[in-house]
Amino acid sequence: MQIIDGKATSAAIRQELREQTAAFVKSNGFAPGLAVILVGEDPASQVYVRNKARACEEVGFYSEVHRLPESTTQAELLGLIDRLNADEKIHGILVQLPLPKHLDEGELLLRIAPEKDVDGFHPCNVGMLTIGAPAFVPCTPAGIMELLRRYGIDPDGKRCVVVGRSNIVGKPMALLLMAANGTVTVCHRHTANTEALTREADILVSAVGRAHFLTADMVKEGAVVIDVGMNRDENGKLCGDVDFDAVAPKCSYITPVPGGVGPMTITMLLKNTLKSAENRAQKL
Ligand code: NAP
Repeated sequence: MQIIDGKATSAAIRQELREQTAAFVKSNGFAPGLAVILVGEDPASQVYVRNKARACEEVGFYSEVHRLPESTTQAELLGLIDRLNADEKIHGILVQLPLPKHLDEGELLLRIAPEKDVDGFHPCNVGMLTIGAPAFVPCTPAGIMELLRRYGIDPDGKRCVVVGRSNIVGKPMALLLMAANGTVTVCHRHTANTEALTREADILVSAVGRAHFLTADMVKEGAVVIDVGMNRDENGKLCGDVDFDAVAPKCSYITPVPGGVGPMTITMLLKNTLKSAENRAQKL
């Protein structure tokens, strides 16, 4: 069994990004720029946004964080997105989710110019991914594909099972595995006998959001297990969906939580932002 080290992989990619960014700035005279919009006081979102801004700084990007009060209106946010869409310093725009309930997330995501949608949530980018011509791929599944690549795990011809069908993880994950020639099954709350399906998986991705969801009897001997979950256990400790101690001995590869998928997400956001700046530089 080998542990897939997302922390080390992420650090290696960020070093590559630092070098690529320095070369980009030298030849184009501007830095890739990311704008993050945070509405309200959600503590987890505050941490994520701080980490994103810090990561930008570390690789040499320009970044700005728009911290807005809970009472911000839809019209104000749409206005801000319009300004950022037109701002030459900004190549990536992201709205930190979840948003306060009075705001229409769908309308806001739709307003972000697809060429600046580095989260890959705009229907245009979702469509591109669906037809197999990816533009910006959502960061968490993109990070998982990068981990698989860097560990020499090729989904070609493999039975892949994704548990979870959210727009930000499960669905794009299934599309990416299918694009890589995996045979993909997606499970969700209405799936009958999820255990029987997960037991068939050569590559098993759990994106459910429940501690201890994936137990050893649900995993085939020699499977690759990717744990996307970020949960708190009974003691308040961060844990994934996978019952790690029991499952790990059965796996060929497994991602831990923390230190697996998590660190890759922001790294892929940086990658997408650099790509957007490169696209812009080509147009100028
Ligand atoms: P989500 O929107 O809540 O989706 C969860 C999915 O799991 C749903 O599709 C749901 O099915 C399915 N599900 C729930 N219980 C199930 C069960 N008993 N059997 C089979 N399927 C079940 O969550 P998400 O945004 O995709 O996130 C999933 C987890 O990943 C969370 O813990 C989140 O914190 C974590 N996450 C981590 C990162 C990272 O960077 N590491 C990034 C994003 C998310 P239905 O559709 O039928 O309801």
